[in-house]
Amino acid sequence: MTAFGTVFTPEMILSRYDGAQWSTPEIVPSDSITLHPGAHVLHYASTCFEGLKAFRHADGSINIFRMDRNIQRMAQSSRLLSLPAIDEKQLEQMIVEITGRFASEVPEPPGSLYIRPTHIGTEPAIGKAAAPSSTSLLYVLLSPVGDYFSGGSTALRLLLKEDGMRCAPHMGMIKSGGNYASSLPSMMEARAEVKADQVLYCPDGQVQETGAANFLLIDGNEIITRALDSTFLHGVTRDSVLTLARDLGMDVQERDLSIEELLERSAKPGTEATLSGTAAVLAPVGTLIYEGKEYTVGSGKPGPMTAKLRQMMNDIQWGRSEDTHGWLTQV
Ligand SMILES: *Cc1c(COP(=O)(O)O)cnc(C)c1O
Repeated sequence: MTAFGTVFTPEMILSRYDGAQWSTPEIVPSDSITLHPGAHVLHYASTCFEGLKAFRHADGSINIFRMDRNIQRMAQSSRLLSLPAIDEKQLEQMIVEITGRFASEVPEPPGSLYIRPTHIGTEPAIGKAAAPSSTSLLYVLLSPVGDYFSGGSTALRLLLKEDGMRCAPHMGMIKSGGNYASSLPSMMEARAEVKADQVLYCPDGQVQETGAANFLLIDGNEIITRALDSTFLHGVTRDSVLTLARDLGMDVQERDLSIEELLERSAKPGTEATLSGTAAVLAPVGTLIYEGKEYTVGSGKPGPMTAKLRQMMNDIQWGRSEDTHGWLTQV
């Protein structure tokens, strides 16, 4: 089995901003791009990306999930990094074109085609530490991926971290490269010291998110997650799962969740905790580690509500239930 995101289609689609306009998108080989070593992105991290998926339905059609949301978020990331403004309509056409071109490479469910739009500042100007890149490159890379849970769905161990942050607060809602590298040292330490799978950042004692996923607590009919603010990434999966939870009549609470309340609720036998993100949809959390102690969440095993909400998402994505919210775009 190959690791998630290591297999690519042989071609991708690309457009360049020359300081005045975007070039007509071109299909190019996906194994290389040429950048000046002084390119702005390589020195000053003017980069952002997106992650979304296309799914194969039983009728053979290929359908992209919530593309509009991901494009809007990429426009937001670009704006907040002072990268050239993307042309949202053009990016949509690029995604649809390249996905359609490789439609035959979209795996059957539970596999999918992972789509990775990337936007980087290309101006060769190392004097521009305090100024934006006037030129940029936008490309859409494709990676067919298999079942995220092929190794079985085991419940994750999370280290709760009150000190330190995933990224600077003003970078929270930007899906940008530097955020991931900068959170690696705390991640590696958590792995080595307490065998945690992920760090759950809790600045000021309030639950925020992990390195690349949002956090949800499910306690009976209640589903609790941090309200949107500028300090963390606003997941499309988070929004989708909360929408489906509302459809089920669940009590969706977007609000502060303290470590204290989290641990107290986790002690109840039926409680579930879960991470949300495009790769897994929902990944169950079984153990929380805080101040040297381990706390089991509910049964400590993947729970039924996590599985149910993931199944509801998958059913829409895979074309097995009606797309009542209009989330799919057929290519
Ligand atoms: C991508 C990402 C998420 C999840 O977003 P989705 O749109 O649900 O895939 C959450 N947190 C961080 C830090 C991320 O990078």
